[in-house]
Amino acid sequence: MVSAGPELRKDRLEGRWVIFAPERMNRPHDARVSPRPSPPRSCPFCPGNEGGTPPEIAALRARGSRPDGRCWRVRVIPNKFPAVRPDAGKFRSAADPSLIRPAKGIHEVVIDTPRHGREWPDLGAAAVRDVLRVCRDRVAAAERTAGIRHVQMFKNKGFQAGASLSHAHTQIIGLPLVPDDIRREALRSAREFRREGRCPVCRMLETERAEQSRWIAADRHFAVLAPFASRFPFQTRIYPLRHSASFSRSSEAELLSLAVLARSILARLKRSLDDPPYNIILRQPPRPAGPEASKSGHWSLEIVPVLAHIAGFELGTGMFINPVLPEEAARELRR
Ligand SMILES: [Zn+2]
Ligand SMILES: [Zn+2]
Repeated sequence: MVSAGPELRKDRLEGRWVIFAPERMNRPHDARVSPRPSPPRSCPFCPGNEGGTPPEIAALRARGSRPDGRCWRVRVIPNKFPAVRPDAGKFRSAADPSLIRPAKGIHEVVIDTPRHGREWPDLGAAAVRDVLRVCRDRVAAAERTAGIRHVQMFKNKGFQAGASLSHAHTQIIGLPLVPDDIRREALRSAREFRREGRCPVCRMLETERAEQSRWIAADRHFAVLAPFASRFPFQTRIYPLRHSASFSRSSEAELLSLAVLARSILARLKRSLDDPPYNIILRQPPRPAGPEASKSGHWSLEIVPVLAHIAGFELGTGMFINPVLPEEAARELRR
């Protein structure tokens, strides 16, 4: 049977779902050429090339400017080469039906800025706040969509971090299922909540503030930490100080604060680690969260510079070897 793809398959023993999206082989690439190329004329994310992308879903644009025209500050489009899509339907093979399902979902691209080659630290705090505001609203829209069980927002900067296009962009994927790792973390949080009567992250933040050694920065709304058991060197997480299970409930003041702190950490990583590729990952419990998950789950924004490849040991065991203690990373990033 010919597939309309993409397709989800589950490994029977590992319990892990894999998305098969052969269309993604056809993606255009320019990020491999150089970390900072001059804008290629063909860049589909540059102003003037709006006609080369699918029609926009949302945008922050100058008053009176037309959709899919120039004069935008942030622009959202469906991914032209999606990992999941609303109309995924047919199956490729007649395997055990419990191990296979259509990869129905949402895959959107948020183009962070019209300026090619500029990343968050190069943009003003208000411009990054605008990106986060658009992301918040698109994540909220995905969470409201029927059939979506988990929404993942992420950003890949640099070829080694998985970016195919160098023009700064953020992605949002709405999945029809809750990935195993996310489900396990939510269950563990809920168990600890029942035992202690409090959100485990709120408790951890108090301890870390008192302990200080992994604490990097904070303001009224957020704290930045090097996680106690960081899997990767210089991994950091930005946590809201008020308990919240959901990024999409962030206020305008919180988004500005998040923009200021994220820019500041990215600038420090750039200075300390010679402009590394990195991933930014939203971590939050699956939505819609029930009343218990809303109390025990606490969202964060994780920043992971890509300094080494995942190697044989990590692939074999799912365990990570990290040569940099989070206390050392925090000391370096506090400077
Ligand atoms: Zn561009
Ligand atoms: Zn909490």
